Order: sequence, then C-alpha cells, then structure tokens
Amino acid sequence: MDLQLNNGEDLCFFFTTLDWFLWFVCTHAFSSFSGIDASIIFLDHPNSIDGEIVMINPRIINRSRELDMKVWTEECLVLPPTFRATLLRDAVVTVEYQNFDGDFRQITLDGELARAFQHELDHDRGVLIVDHIGLDEMDPRMRFIEHIDHDQKMEKAFTRFISDPFETS
Ligand SMILES: [Zn+2]
Repeated sequence: MDLQLNNGEDLCFFFTTLDWFLWFVCTHAFSSFSGIDASIIFLDHPNSIDGEIVMINPRIINRSRELDMKVWTEECLVLPPTFRATLLRDAVVTVEYQNFDGDFRQITLDGELARAFQHELDHDRGVLIVDHIGLDEMDPRMRFIEHIDHDQKMEKAFTRFISDPFETS
C-alpha cells in the first residue's frame, strides 16, 4: 500500500519538543542495549492518519532533480544553540520504510517534512549540518573542532544516494 502525502511548509518535526527528543534518545539507547540494529525516524505529520509517521530503517528510493534543491537555514540540538548552517536539501524525496508491524510503506515528502527527514537521516549516517558547509563559514572555535577530515565529511554530506526498493511481493 502506498501512502502518498504532500504537504506545505508549516509542518513541524518531533525534535521541536523535548519529550519526543527524549523518546528518540531512549529508543536508540534501547536499541543499542538490546542488540537491535535499527534506524528509527519519527515525523510529526498532522495530515497523516495518526498525526505522526514512525519510519523504521527508512531509505530514500527517489529524489527530485539536483537543480530543484532548496536552500534552508538549519540548527541542530547536538550543536551550540546559536549555530546555524545554510545548506541545500532535495526538494522532494520518496522514502521506503517499515512500520511497527514490519509492513513496507512508501511516502513522498516535500517542504519542511522533506527537509526534516533528510536532516535526521544525516544523523543516522554520522553527518551533521556542519558537514554541509565550508570551514570558512564557521567561527574559529567551530573551525578548530571540525577541520579534521572536513573534506571527506563534506563529500559524504553531499552524496545524494538512492537505495533500491525492497521486493515486497
Ligand atoms: Zn540535528
């Protein structure tokens, strides 16, 4: 079953609330301690049936054109609260994931949801918003911390990989 949702810019992401942040941390901690190797991304999605989407092991299976990428200014809870990075994100991404029942789902995200999803998927592969910008865009303290292997981190951040969809039939 395809779940096709397209929404505007006024949607929010779960990291905007501390409760959900703690839920995310606890989930990852539980996964680590229990030996479960899973990626879990939660999107607060007011237009979905439950108002939220939990994506287990999400994979991007399609992206909009590179020429259509959108400029965003982002912040991140794992970085100093004053730090902002202006970066590019794909305008539209189609994601395949599993729900809690193990069923495969697909969803197409745009606007704020596409941005938020790509930010969180970056976390999952060890990429932060600092890896999307040049060292010359950072203040001296941040530059000192980030200068090691920054070129390789940027290359990873800019990779627009596409996964093959799972065979679900
Ligand atoms: Zn972040």
